[in-house]
Amino acid sequence: MVYHDTYSPDTYYYECQDCRWRETREEPVGTCPRCGGGVRNIAVPRE
Ligand SMILES: [Zn+2]
Repeated sequence: MVYHDTYSPDTYYYECQDCRWRETREEPVGTCPRCGGGVRNIAVPRE
């Protein structure tokens, strides 16, 4: 049984620089799936 912790450090948080698409992924993302623009990895603050 696999438990997905929403605050897992293995989760990446991406934001598109063009359309402001935002989503968390467990895998590295190179381009925005919505517009194909460049995305950047945003550090998720852990509380
Ligand atoms: Zn985009």
